[in-house]
Amino acid sequence: MTTPRTIEDRDAALRLARESYRAISLYAPDRAPCRIDLSDNTNTWGIAPAVEEAIHQAAIAAVTRYPNLYAAPLKEALGGYLGVASDHIVTGCGSDDVLDSAIRAFAEPGDAIAFPDPSFAMIPIFARMNGLRPMPVRLTASLDLDADAMLATEARIIYVCSPNNPTGNAMSRAAVERVVERASGIVIIDEAYAEFAGGDFLDLLSASDRVLIARTMSKAFGLAGLRVGYAAGSPALVAEVEKSRGPYKVNGIAERAALSALGDGLPWARAHVAEAIANRERLTDALRERGLSPLPSAANFVLVPVAAANERARRMRTLGVAVRPFEGLPPLGDALAATGGSALRISVGPWEMVEAALGALDASAEDTP
Ligand code: PMP
Repeated sequence: MTTPRTIEDRDAALRLARESYRAISLYAPDRAPCRIDLSDNTNTWGIAPAVEEAIHQAAIAAVTRYPNLYAAPLKEALGGYLGVASDHIVTGCGSDDVLDSAIRAFAEPGDAIAFPDPSFAMIPIFARMNGLRPMPVRLTASLDLDADAMLATEARIIYVCSPNNPTGNAMSRAAVERVVERASGIVIIDEAYAEFAGGDFLDLLSASDRVLIARTMSKAFGLAGLRVGYAAGSPALVAEVEKSRGPYKVNGIAERAALSALGDGLPWARAHVAEAIANRERLTDALRERGLSPLPSAANFVLVPVAAANERARRMRTLGVAVRPFEGLPPLGDALAATGGSALRISVGPWEMVEAALGALDASAEDTP
């Protein structure tokens, strides 16, 4: 057996790595298995029966052969879903991959990327992975995009997330349109949660050929483990993302499952999105009844400011419910200011799960410092 070399060698190994990578940390939310997991905004109802069947059918042929180079059949289906031609679509191994590839495609090392604070935690990580300078720009007190502050960065890429993770709210049309009209570079609009929002910014694709709208099949369609993401934009724009992404990123089983989810599985997804929206409103009301001030959400999760979120989440885990704690969020608005930026993000799932989360939340409050 080979014995791995010891700690003294670690510094030497680190010196071999790109210097800019020393500032990068691993993405490490607590992912320990938990009886009820409402921590990552995935579809806790599961997947459509048709998709389950497609995965079983797919198995061997999809494993032994390379998948489609750039997932052409899936691009066709996604184009149909969004109402655009398939040459406006690029796919990837999760929207993480699409975002990372887009950042690499449109900015040189040393360029800046502006993004809202708070927003999707992977963006500054992808920025550093590609040698970019992350430029966080605070949301306004009403949690809207600060369009002028974003534009003032003159960043090569502006990233917008709507509905925004972790706040849950959609950005105002006025702010997003202003950014799109005036940005000198690319605007990426991350719509991972668009299905739950009752509105989106897809129409901006015809207003500008510098807009890329990123989407995922991890949330509404329940395919997080298969890693299927995509983006829509002008054909020239998505072609650059494809170059940067490289071939074979959507694996064969994932592609078949995604095709089924967009075909026979679509009514199932639509029905569960409707249930998620209904349960989100119920959860918001239940939190308000407890005297809490959840932020109004257009996504499949609710952010609720509470003090000592890490400790509350730790206690909830011991009761079998995982939620995502945040501490140190910017104290925007009265509710977040009151807890010093401490909050829990609770994903919405079947009502029994939400009820269990409410029970654990109540129990976790007892003798929290
Ligand atoms: N964007 C946002 C805003 C997200 O919250 C997530 C998932 N947490 C992603 C992108 C990435 O999703 P995936 O890679 O699973 O498609």
